[in-house]
Amino acid sequence: MSHGDPVDLDELVARLDVTEKVRLLTGASLFTLHGDPSIGLAPMAFSDGPTGVRGLEFAGGRTASLLPNATLIAASWSTDTAHEVGRILAEEAERQQIHVVLGPTINLHRSPLGGRLFEAYSEDPLLTGVLAAAYVDGLQSRGVGACLKHLVANEAETDRHNVSSAVDERTLRELYLLPFEIAVEDADPWSIMAAYNDVNGVPATEQGEINNEIVKGEWGWTGLLMSDWFATRSAAPAANGGLDLVMPGPTGPWGDALVAAVERGEVALEVLDEHVRRLLRLAQRTGALGEPREWSGDLPEPDSETRRSRLLRIAAAGMTVLANDRALPLDPRRRTALIGRHALDTVCMGGGSATLRPPHQVSIAQGLSELVGDGLTVHDGVEVRHRPRAARRSHVTDPVTGEPGVRACLYGASGALLQDTLAEEAVVVVTSEDDLPEPVTRVVLSAIVPTGALRVGVLGAGDWTVRVGDRTSRTSLRTETGDVAEAVLRPPGWQTEVALGSATELVAEVVPDTDGMFGLVAEPTSPADDEAIAAAVEAAASADVAVVVVGLTEEQETEAIDKTTLALPGRQDELVSAVAAAARSTVVVLNAATPVLMPWLDEVDAVLWAGLPGQEGGHAVAAALLGEIEPAGRLVTTFPVADGATPAWDVTPTDGVLAYAEGPFVGYRGHAAGRAPEPAFWFGHGLGYATWAYESATGDGGSVTVTLTNTSSRDSREVVQVYLDPEQPTQPPRLVGWAPVEVAAGGSTTVTVECDQRLWRSWDPSTHGWQRLTGGSLLVARGLGDVRLHLPG
Ligand code: BGC
Repeated sequence: MSHGDPVDLDELVARLDVTEKVRLLTGASLFTLHGDPSIGLAPMAFSDGPTGVRGLEFAGGRTASLLPNATLIAASWSTDTAHEVGRILAEEAERQQIHVVLGPTINLHRSPLGGRLFEAYSEDPLLTGVLAAAYVDGLQSRGVGACLKHLVANEAETDRHNVSSAVDERTLRELYLLPFEIAVEDADPWSIMAAYNDVNGVPATEQGEINNEIVKGEWGWTGLLMSDWFATRSAAPAANGGLDLVMPGPTGPWGDALVAAVERGEVALEVLDEHVRRLLRLAQRTGALGEPREWSGDLPEPDSETRRSRLLRIAAAGMTVLANDRALPLDPRRRTALIGRHALDTVCMGGGSATLRPPHQVSIAQGLSELVGDGLTVHDGVEVRHRPRAARRSHVTDPVTGEPGVRACLYGASGALLQDTLAEEAVVVVTSEDDLPEPVTRVVLSAIVPTGALRVGVLGAGDWTVRVGDRTSRTSLRTETGDVAEAVLRPPGWQTEVALGSATELVAEVVPDTDGMFGLVAEPTSPADDEAIAAAVEAAASADVAVVVVGLTEEQETEAIDKTTLALPGRQDELVSAVAAAARSTVVVLNAATPVLMPWLDEVDAVLWAGLPGQEGGHAVAAALLGEIEPAGRLVTTFPVADGATPAWDVTPTDGVLAYAEGPFVGYRGHAAGRAPEPAFWFGHGLGYATWAYESATGDGGSVTVTLTNTSSRDSREVVQVYLDPEQPTQPPRLVGWAPVEVAAGGSTTVTVECDQRLWRSWDPSTHGWQRLTGGSLLVARGLGDVRLHLPG
């Protein structure tokens, strides 16, 4: 759905002079654009994305629904689910009068070390592209623009502003551009975001070959290309390289420099006009041009029953049974010991720009206790975080109002108090783009913290003085990379342990080093790991079943840094092994979006992958464990057996270059071609709670018709997957289609899988064109580790 009557965009462009045009092409603030009443243009508003609509504030904004993370959404392999997610996000955007949601993220899972994989769907370009198209369609069907990001070859975070991804032409076309191509062709997204990195030595914001020739030219895409935040480095090269809009604003490298470049003839007037035309087209599509948009008023609140039930179902349905020796589903009548820090403090979202402020985050302990009742005991696990984190509302009280939160006062060099607010999330973000009378030179944060043994401290780059009771400490904190984004998204921290006899005021004052996020830390200390393991073992021994919840946190699954290992942080592996040795039956729940190592796999009875399940997380895990909703997900990325045992591993650039040396042999494609050891679990794997017999398959490269039977005693859902194996050493096997199907217990069905012809193309660098593959065979498989039927290709 686009808004308004057709408008003659050329006529509007012609009414503006060069300065007026250029003004429109840089943001007005962190997340808004300039309007221009003379042509009926209202200011547009953008919001991150991709699994919730945070709004215009980085922190401290209004509450919004927190959806399951992208890998968990993708694990349903369902275009209906992706479409529904898009519609929910559109409603969330409409509630906040947001014109464009900055998602979906459709970079691929190249190396499992990538810190931001939790935001992106999968390692496969077809699955990623098709789900993205459905999400875009859902969003735009309600008149809210989508933004595919990040174009392109942005699969890791290390040195992300400077790195050049070196990707050969064929790999770029067949792998990393393909999700963008599919989404553009199938759903016509209204915007795309150019990445931070260079592609083959040219900044993505200046990549004329990709932006102009391929995306806007060859694919005929008519949307707006914006920069990632602070990514644009130049005026003429970026404007000529296809970038339409610099974000954020109001300052940036365009402005006067671009006006001058146009006057000098370095940027042709037609080029400038085309950028403005694309901006106005976006405005027209989202209701910001002409008649003011009427935003729907009657939309579900983030904590409404409508939202809660849908988000619970979407999360539970994507959860994936990796292993199950009859331990699942759980029997609620059995005595169950629920163990682990992630059980009590479930990680419902990743870190970085995808974070938001949900109405609640249901822990697994809470969710399971509602369903299991008296037979459940809950036990904390080992420490899982290494860095301080912002205080939760329950642990800090504003000294001024007595409300939950932290008092945050910002001062300027003149000594003037510039801003005085209650920071409910215990953090405040300070940027030079803020609309304040003078720059912030001092931040003072204060809160009343509770009695007892506590960790107290601060977050943020700068020179701190911290006072709690009569104790004063001084510390200087700096980011690891000097990157402003790091100072906002992952600020450095300091903490110390105190024992307080009464509620006490914590006051921290900082001279900020740069723009960034600043906050207070206040958290009760936890038992030592040895004690936690001993208590868990005792609890496991006296229960019928132990459910151990382990996982990653926002320290690993976040923006701006990559992981260095797939091992679980802290002593979680030791905890699982100790519990498994003592328990009659052990179920492990993995609260992580991406692959982890499982050295204890042979010691446990079942493993359920639960992703980052969003605000209803604990309810969804409980429903999946008990089988109230079948966790019928299939993996969207391959789980390797060891660190390094993947076709692509390293994410650290050498001399500024990250070589995509594995070419098209990424993920399961590389494992299948023998370029990495047999994985622990293949892309496409997932047991659900049923068993399946595949009887027959007929068809060819157009479509494949499969007959299969649910040989279990429960109704279930299968995802029938078809792969093409071209049987040529240079052509890896690849997913070409899939179809989800629901079959009653004991029932049979026949399902047709349409095969996507875009996977039969191979890019020929000598002719710079596509060639069609012929021959080979088709595999009907439950992931390439479990091939059920073969057909000629
Ligand atoms: C991220 C983008 C995000 C933008 C705005 C950047 O750091 O890379 O994905 O949309 O910030 O928050």
